[in-house]
Amino acid sequence: MIPFNKPVVIGTERKYIDQVLEKQKLCGDGAFTKKCNEWLEKNIHCGKGLLTTSCTHATEMAVLLSNISEGDEVIMPSYTFVSTADAVVLRGAVPVFVDIRPDTMNIDEKLIEEAITDKTKAIIPVHYAGVSCEMDRIIEIADRYNLSVIEDAAQAIGSLYKGKYCGTLGNYGCLSFHETKNINMGEGGALLIRDSDNFERAEIIREKGTNRSKFYRGEIDKYTWVDAGSSYLPSELNAAFLFGQLERYEEIQISRMNAWNNYYGLLKVLEDKGDIELPFIPRECVHNAHMFYIKVKDIEQRTKLVNYLKQYDINAVFHYIPLHSAPAGVKYGRFNGEDKYTTKESERLLRLPLYYGICCDDVERVAEKIKEYFKI
Ligand SMILES: *Cc1c(COP(=O)(O)O)cnc(C)c1O
Repeated sequence: MIPFNKPVVIGTERKYIDQVLEKQKLCGDGAFTKKCNEWLEKNIHCGKGLLTTSCTHATEMAVLLSNISEGDEVIMPSYTFVSTADAVVLRGAVPVFVDIRPDTMNIDEKLIEEAITDKTKAIIPVHYAGVSCEMDRIIEIADRYNLSVIEDAAQAIGSLYKGKYCGTLGNYGCLSFHETKNINMGEGGALLIRDSDNFERAEIIREKGTNRSKFYRGEIDKYTWVDAGSSYLPSELNAAFLFGQLERYEEIQISRMNAWNNYYGLLKVLEDKGDIELPFIPRECVHNAHMFYIKVKDIEQRTKLVNYLKQYDINAVFHYIPLHSAPAGVKYGRFNGEDKYTTKESERLLRLPLYYGICCDDVERVAEKIKEYFKI
């Protein structure tokens, strides 16, 4: 069987978890959390990196930091995971969905401005499949209307836009370390903060609204409740697990990239024949091989292909029922403009098995069976 995903386990996780057990300090913000935060600051070049319990929670933090409240509006694509919208809806704000570009499946930057009202507070671009959105244009619009930019970089660790890391371009960037992502800690994430003005409040929100982080650093004598916050701090056990993987980041990314390039080369002939479409990477973007997808003619053909591959024990999957058509999306959000591509393109997209260590033979087998389906 070729599974769709296998969570990375690199081999050093157990050793580091044992070190945490020996120290008997299991709660958050210990030595390993610090190492992970520093790794992010050094390697992703963010102003500040804070490990969180998930990307969903990092997004909630960014929404709190952007002072988004009841009745405010936040612009985002409808083709995304629920977390992007949940973080906004929890504050009583309205997700305003905008259509995607069919080439990258990212929010269409040309449609953002017409969705802005006097209630708009932020834009949440989602870097789908680890391919960056058109960030120059998005940041230019945000600056002009004084909006916060919160990058949903859940899939985009290590991806670049014009040489800069995804998650570091907007005011906030949200990474995921869920087991389905390139680098993982089971469940977890990180908030990347660009501007130093926001560092202190971010630490406070993450620590239940207290200034405990300052207290730990010896900057104050006692800590107290200073703001509204929550518990967004992961345990040291999870941070230790993650650190093992961050240390081997290069190797993990290279393995995925090899598989990605291999798929691309093997399936190119089908694209040339007009049977499928392959992912498009704009010139200013470097992706991180988070996902390999193909697009087929329509939903019927996709269903047939999924079933065909299943016969050969190959697990190919699709995802994201556009949020504006889901029950909660209808209740809490609205779609601005026309759904020209979101639904249509989402129904054509199929993700192929891709994970750290997937062997060449398996990639070749998947490509072979897809070619067989299209009878070449
Ligand atoms: C995975 C994912 C999330 C959620 O990440 P968690 O760490 O599970 O909260 C959010 N947005 C996108 C685009 C994702 O792919």
